[in-house]
Amino acid sequence: MRALTLVADRDLVVADLPPPPPPAAGEVQVRIAAVALNHIDVWGYRGMAFVKRKLPIVVGAEASGTIEAVGDGVTRFKPGQKVVMYGALTCGHCKACQEGRDNLCENVGGLIGFHVDGFARELMNIAERLVIPVPDNVDLRDAACAPIAFSTVQHMLFDNAKLQPGETVLVHAGGSGIGTVAIMMAKAIGCTVITTVGDDSKIEGVKKLGADHVINYRKDRFEHETRKITKKKGVDVVFEHVGADTFNGSLLSLKRGGRLVTCGSTSGPTTTINLMQLFQQQYKIFGSFGATMTNIAESLDKMAAGMLPVIDTEVPLDDVGAALKRMESRQVFGKIIVRF
Ligand SMILES: [Zn+2]
Repeated sequence: MRALTLVADRDLVVADLPPPPPPAAGEVQVRIAAVALNHIDVWGYRGMAFVKRKLPIVVGAEASGTIEAVGDGVTRFKPGQKVVMYGALTCGHCKACQEGRDNLCENVGGLIGFHVDGFARELMNIAERLVIPVPDNVDLRDAACAPIAFSTVQHMLFDNAKLQPGETVLVHAGGSGIGTVAIMMAKAIGCTVITTVGDDSKIEGVKKLGADHVINYRKDRFEHETRKITKKKGVDVVFEHVGADTFNGSLLSLKRGGRLVTCGSTSGPTTTINLMQLFQQQYKIFGSFGATMTNIAESLDKMAAGMLPVIDTEVPLDDVGAALKRMESRQVFGKIIVRF
C-alpha cells in the first residue's frame, strides 16, 4: 500500500509498505480518505533536534476515513462507517483519559504522524477508543479537519478562554487553517472579530468568514490598530499561535483582566514578558495543546450544522512537500487536504 514517508529532513517519498494485519481485539482498520496538513507537519518536515523519533516515519497528523474491518469486541463501529481519528496514542486508563481529557494523558505514546507513524497511508489499525464517528452529512474531506484544526480551536476558545457571546476577540493570522476556524466559531456565537493578515489578498477572504476588522500586520502595528478599534479598551480574548513575533503585542492588545490563549509559536518559541504588566493588568494566559474527544465530536456537529472548513487546495500524495513549503511561507488560505 502507498504511504507518504519522511526519510530525512525535508525529504518525503511515497513508499510501498505492506498492508496491516487484520485488526486485533479492540482495534479497527481504517481506510484513509483524506489527510489535512497542519503546522505540526511543517515542524516534522523541517526536523526538530529535540524530538525523539526514528526515520523513516509515515507522516500525517489529522485524517478521515472509513472503517474497513473491526477486531473482536468492537461494538461502536461497522465496516463502511465514516470516521476520524484522535491524533495521539493516549492510554485510556489514566485519570485524564478517564475524564475525556486525552490531551492531558499521563502515559501518551506519542503524537501520530510526528513521533509515531501517521495517517498518510492507505490502511491502518487503531484502537477503537481513538476513533470518532462522522455524521452522515459531513463530507470526508471536511471531516479530515476536525481532529486538529476545528477541535484545537474549540478547545482554545471555549474550554480555555471561555469566550462569551458579545465579547471581542483578536484572531492572529486569520487566513491560516486554525485562524479561519477561529473567525467562524467566534462569529457563530456573536463575537466581534478583529483579525490580522500578512497579505492584502487575504482581506476579502477573512471578511467573507465574518471578520469585522482586518489588519495587515506587515503594514500596521496590530496592537496599535486593535487599541484604536476598541477605543483604547483592548479585547477580551487574543487567539495566539504566532509566538515570538506577536506575543507582547498580543498582551498589549488585551483589556485589563483579558485572556490570551495560545497553541503555537510558528515565528519562534521564546520571548520575554513584562511581569509587572502581567499582574497589574491581571492577564490570564492559557497554554492549549490538542483537544478532548468531546471537542472532536463538537467540531463534527458544527460541520454537520453547516460550519465548513475553508479548503485552500487539495493535493495528491506526491505534492505534499511543495504544500508544506507553501504553508511555511504562509501562502495558504485555509486548509490543505491530501486526497488518497
Ligand atoms: Zn491516559
